[in-house]
Amino acid sequence: MSKLKIAVVKMTGCAGCQMEFLRMEEEFLGLLENVEISYFVMAKRENHEGPYDVAFVEGSVSTPRELNELRELRKRSTTLVAFGDCASSGCVPSILNWIPPAVSARVYENFPLIHSKKESFQRVTPLRDFVEVDVELRGCPPRKELILEVLKSLLIGRKPCLKKYSVCMECKMNENVCLLTSEKRPCMGPVTQAGCGAICPTVGRVCEGCYGPMSDANAPSLAKEFMELCGMSEDDVVQKFRKYAGLDSKFEREAG
Ligand code: SF4
Ligand code: SF4
Ligand code: SF4
Repeated sequence: MSKLKIAVVKMTGCAGCQMEFLRMEEEFLGLLENVEISYFVMAKRENHEGPYDVAFVEGSVSTPRELNELRELRKRSTTLVAFGDCASSGCVPSILNWIPPAVSARVYENFPLIHSKKESFQRVTPLRDFVEVDVELRGCPPRKELILEVLKSLLIGRKPCLKKYSVCMECKMNENVCLLTSEKRPCMGPVTQAGCGAICPTVGRVCEGCYGPMSDANAPSLAKEFMELCGMSEDDVVQKFRKYAGLDSKFEREAG
């Protein structure tokens, strides 16, 4: 079997997804028997311009340079993976899209002097708005088992088997008491895609939705529950849905 040539590329994101890739310490030697890392600036000095079998693209698009790079990558890659929530749904950086310039000016003393502001579109956009994306690997960051699933499936020529059901399913499998129905706390589990193993509710914290919307998320119904059952204001519900996937069409209305 010839080795799978891969690239790991960063756009506007925090590098956490790349770090998760590097967290595959135990699996790495086995992985290198089947995978050739052609491009990964964070991990190696010599990098190659492709073509690649798979490009893992972390981060969203916020500058013209990133947009050009993304289009080039698309041409040079057989499979393009939107690697993490920033790439698939804008994630936390996309909150910028709703912030009026006056707010930024109050936070940063010399806002116009910030280099990234000068070259940026002033808007954060997920990859699928510009190019065809083959695999949406959700999570902030996607846990390493999901990265391995993508690599293994591509090596044997099948589609990655990523969970489409909600975090609630994993929460129930962990036999947790429901924080939403029993404690009236605003948990995003019912509309969030599984994959994390419901780690937050399992330690008594509500899910904040960091794996993005599940396939048939019923956002209006959960937003109603947040207001009627948990006593949240409309504004707080909007913030909740904006946090990780406000640009996704499944949350668009609730995210304002
Ligand atoms: S998805 Fe999360 S971990 Fe990955 S780059 Fe974006 S903010 Fe960082
Ligand atoms: S605690 Fe949250 S994730 Fe768990 S079952 Fe209740 S709503 Fe779903
Ligand atoms: S429980 Fe929710 S917030 Fe916590 S890791 Fe899973 S998807 Fe993210």
